[in-house]
Amino acid sequence: MEYASILGISTPASRVGLGTWAMGGTQWGGTDDDESVRTIHAALDLGITLIDTAPAYGFGHSEEVVGRAIAERGGRERIVVATKVGLEQRGDGVIRNSSRQQLNREVEVSLRRLRTDYIDLYQVHWPDFATPYEETAQALFELQRAGKIRAIGVSNYAIEAMERFRRIAPLSSAQPPLNLFEREALEEIIPWCRAHGVSTLTYGALCRGLLTGTMKEDTRFEGDDLRKTDPKFLPPRYAQYLQAVQRLAQFASERYSKGMLPFAIRWVLDQPGVTVALWGARHPGELAPLREVTGWSLDSEALAYTDSVVSESVRDPVGPEFMAPPERHPDERSGAPV
Ligand code: NAP
Repeated sequence: MEYASILGISTPASRVGLGTWAMGGTQWGGTDDDESVRTIHAALDLGITLIDTAPAYGFGHSEEVVGRAIAERGGRERIVVATKVGLEQRGDGVIRNSSRQQLNREVEVSLRRLRTDYIDLYQVHWPDFATPYEETAQALFELQRAGKIRAIGVSNYAIEAMERFRRIAPLSSAQPPLNLFEREALEEIIPWCRAHGVSTLTYGALCRGLLTGTMKEDTRFEGDDLRKTDPKFLPPRYAQYLQAVQRLAQFASERYSKGMLPFAIRWVLDQPGVTVALWGARHPGELAPLREVTGWSLDSEALAYTDSVVSESVRDPVGPEFMAPPERHPDERSGAPV
């Protein structure tokens, strides 16, 4: 495993982090808690030290599962617990809210669910345009000074927002989407982070499973699985993405004797400015290909070939925007009752 350091956190962070969204039990067709706990333990056994979760994942359930897994295993100080804040539950959905009041309320609940007295990395999940960034940054800075959180991060933030934010509070990390098919963050966000010493935890390394090489034309998703409405998994694009994966899998095998999944994760890790690639898994066996991820790199020819395959095969590319949660109405002042 490769490790990196994140400003404010003394525990080394593994460059592959475990994503626990699906462990929340919603939006991914259901899940099994015991299996999720076993997956977290398998990740720790394989050298993963960073676990990414959020209150929004199953309305707190993912955090509870992470808390349980760490309590059962022990060694809390050797784990980088990264969670998020700023999505308020409203009915059976969430809405952006990064007001001071919301942050102060949420942190206590997350600490309880995670069964810990500190959070290593506390990330604002999505920008809330109804709250000044300065208010959010100040509130987080106070939580840091109170010892409840070790480091502050943001996710899905634009550069201008990060600039305003870091005038008020030390910004340790940003979390943008990044994978072979969703690479907009490479244009400005990740270079900006690199230039300003902000670590990046990039999400969706496997493009919600598309880049595992296991998806087929007749793959069907069950229950509330978000891939039923993900435009990449619908005609006419699905066939285009599958074709790209098929060609890349053949290349990874012939050129590097690697599977599609390790190739996709390596591609993320090899992008300058990427600190950690988040890999979503909920079955212990899914992490087995981790061993194939380290000890090699894609050369410039492979990177260029990959680009050409993606642009030739995917004629109607689409990003991950469908995942963005709703914004508060601009009239909803920060902290105002609704
Ligand atoms: P992902 O890592 O791109 O892909 C997860 C999918 O890959 C799941 O469907 C999983 O299968 C499949 N998979 C994993 N290992 C596999 C294997 N060995 N063989 C076959 N399939 C395999 O997706 P993600 O979970 O969306 O992203 C990773 C993490 O990033 C999340 O868990 C979360 O922590 C974070 N994230 C953050 C944001 C944000 O706004 N900040 C947004 C999205 C994600 P199963 O369905 O069987 O589990």
